[in-house]
Amino acid sequence: MARKVSPEETAAPLVPESPTLVRLEEAAAECRACDLWKRGTQTVFGEGRRASKIMFVGEQPGNEEDLGGHPFIGPAGRLLDQALEEAGIDRKLAYVTNVVKHFKWEPRGKRRIHKKPNATEIASCRPWLDAEIAMVRPQFIVCLGATAARALLGSSFRVSSQRGQFFDTSLGRVTATVHPSFILRVPDDESRRREMGRFIEDLRRIARALG
Ligand code: SF4
Repeated sequence: MARKVSPEETAAPLVPESPTLVRLEEAAAECRACDLWKRGTQTVFGEGRRASKIMFVGEQPGNEEDLGGHPFIGPAGRLLDQALEEAGIDRKLAYVTNVVKHFKWEPRGKRRIHKKPNATEIASCRPWLDAEIAMVRPQFIVCLGATAARALLGSSFRVSSQRGQFFDTSLGRVTATVHPSFILRVPDDESRRREMGRFIEDLRRIARALG
């Protein structure tokens, strides 16, 4: 069972009292609330306009995001861009972020391999996401993958059976689909095309709900 994390052990004390997105990003750049800052190159904060209608929430920055300092700029981000275009959603109108703002990885030879953040790290970083949601107040929050979905919709949430459904929560309307990196990992072309189609259909449903 995950250890309960007190607010003092999280990023909560670092969140500015009168936040703006810029102030939040600056404060998060100095965050040392969990150990992930030691391995990551930099904090990768969310990006997008205040009052964006949609907020996409992934798990954590990947290798390219960690080096570049921006969310969703690697292979998964490019696939997200492609799917958004096909679904008719302009990424420039969306805010993109992650549940955890530092890249967690382990070495394998010369490569840095993604490692899932644990419950304590997710809880430590949560105040940044809550502050982003409070600032942006999106019409829809779209969880990309199980880590984001379970963080926002509860630990019993199953992306496989509940993707595409809309939930009214205290944070606003939340829905979930797969993380684009899942599609990249599908081994054969036909299954990958099918999964991409399902992903685009989930995004189209959101586009329709937005009107
Ligand atoms: S992962 Fe989040 S809580 Fe941990 S150091 Fe980075 S910004 Fe702070």
